Amino acid sequence: MKKRGSIWLPVIWVCVVLVAGSLLVTTIYLDLRSQSVENREEQLLVLARSAASNLESYLGSYQKDFSVIRASSDFREGTDHFLATGDDTLLLRYLDTYNTATEDYVADISLTDGEGRVLAGTNRHGPYEAITRPGKDLVVSRGPDGLYLAISTPVGEGLRLQSMVDVAYMYQSTGAFMTIGKRGYVFYQHSGGVVLTHPRESFAGQELLEGPGREFPELDPGELPLLRGHQQSGEEGILRYRSRWWDEEEPGEAVKLAAYAPARIGDDFLMVTAVADHREIMELLNRGILLIGAVLSLMMVALCFLTFQLYTAIGEKSRVERENTYLRELNEALEEMRRREEKLQHFQRLEIIGTLTGGIAHELGNLLVPIMAYSALMADQVSPQQEELYDEAQEIYSAARKAKEVIQQITDISRKDRGAFQELDLSLTVGSALKMACSAKPREVEMEWSLTLEDCWVLGSATQLCQVVLNLCTNAFHAVAGRENGFLRVEGHLRPALGEEGEVAVFTFTDNGTGMEPQVQERIFDPFFTTKRTGEGTGLGLSIVQSIVENHRGTVTVESRPGEGSIFTLELPVIKKVAGV
Ligand code: ADP
Repeated sequence: MKKRGSIWLPVIWVCVVLVAGSLLVTTIYLDLRSQSVENREEQLLVLARSAASNLESYLGSYQKDFSVIRASSDFREGTDHFLATGDDTLLLRYLDTYNTATEDYVADISLTDGEGRVLAGTNRHGPYEAITRPGKDLVVSRGPDGLYLAISTPVGEGLRLQSMVDVAYMYQSTGAFMTIGKRGYVFYQHSGGVVLTHPRESFAGQELLEGPGREFPELDPGELPLLRGHQQSGEEGILRYRSRWWDEEEPGEAVKLAAYAPARIGDDFLMVTAVADHREIMELLNRGILLIGAVLSLMMVALCFLTFQLYTAIGEKSRVERENTYLRELNEALEEMRRREEKLQHFQRLEIIGTLTGGIAHELGNLLVPIMAYSALMADQVSPQQEELYDEAQEIYSAARKAKEVIQQITDISRKDRGAFQELDLSLTVGSALKMACSAKPREVEMEWSLTLEDCWVLGSATQLCQVVLNLCTNAFHAVAGRENGFLRVEGHLRPALGEEGEVAVFTFTDNGTGMEPQVQERIFDPFFTTKRTGEGTGLGLSIVQSIVENHRGTVTVESRPGEGSIFTLELPVIKKVAGV
């Protein structure tokens, strides 16, 4: 189950990242799209406005010329003379002079009546036929070599001064150079709807809807009427509409984005329309978005990969940690087993030694019986003259007795059953043992003790505890012997038992004797270990102490510094005395 969870976690994480990433990409895409379309519309409108402003200043220069002409005395004189006499020579001379100077951009200039009929004028490119309603400031006219825009201004007495503007030339100067993507274009319309310029040249001079209707009656013009409707107001605007690419041989369907702005001239206006291919805009946009999407997707894949790597690394790390912990624990367990094994072997060796020495001691004890008996008998039977023989018999007897005592000690250690224990007043038992030890101490050794163990009881053997005290004191006397101010201090008190109920009696035997090297300390509780000369020590004293103390469920430990002294610490669990016993 654990393994399953560990596989699903990164999978869920990757799914969450993917879903979140997709949502993010979609939101960014929609946001970018609407923003880009808005930007594009704004750009297109700026373009239309700029073309309209070009057109205004282009046609504005004609109006300025009109003001100059109107103010000219030659023109006024010529006009007055023409009106008075019908002779247009003077007027024509003036107009011709003007036309010669401006022939680059003025096709013809003339004086007309209110309905646009020419009264007198140059006739370099005419004749012209008005397409839109005459009498306004701007009239679209058809000349022999193309479309012309008649721009005029009233000069009084119902007359108008009129310049003919070559539409193709005007378009070249103001809007033809503007490029809008691959298929976009700018085109001009008269306020009345007549198209002035168009990529399909045959549409020029016809109403916006008239051209397509006439040339492609079988084709649906889409939402073109909508554009016409919007533009009629003469206000600027933006429109997305379905239409066709009319400049193609067989016009294909199109979705166009048109921004239109009016160029106001006098009391009339021309509508400038900038047309862009909506699909082209979207394609460009989609390409950009696709790029962003690809980058984001790559980033997401990288993120997923990193997450997966991180997860694997964390998993690997915890696996290695688990293995390390396992190996450490295994090592500790093996080490503990080895220690226990060693201890067990040690105890087994001790047990074998104990059994052997017990057996040997028993045999030796038996052998000593006749030696002691006969040496005593010999001592009794010798005559007073045989004093030397008597001494020898006594020597044998006391040596055998000493040997018997050693054998008794060995037997004590070896014996598993030490007899019945009884409740003992610890202060009394240890106190009387200390008194006994004190009576045997060398004179130069100072000995003192203090026991704070009122009403403190143990279950044990008074003889064995006495032996413990005597052995520890004897060792201390040996250690301080010959040293200046040698002392032995014994102290006893109670402390609470660690980790369990009850109390423990603690005794410390502190001396300032020879102390011990660490390697000696390690072995002092081994039977027969002694640093004393042969005949001075048996190496059994501390072994007996440890055996007795452990038998009383206590512990004995030692701290020692060579040359400074030793402290032996005994701890014995105390009992609650049963009332009335
Ligand atoms: P023995 O006294 O017969 O040598 P023990 O078992 O009583 O045997 O002591 C073992 C050894 O421990 C001693 O030979 C001695 O080196 C050391 N020892 C015991 N008690 C002391 C002590 N208080 N100060 C220094 N060494 C000690």
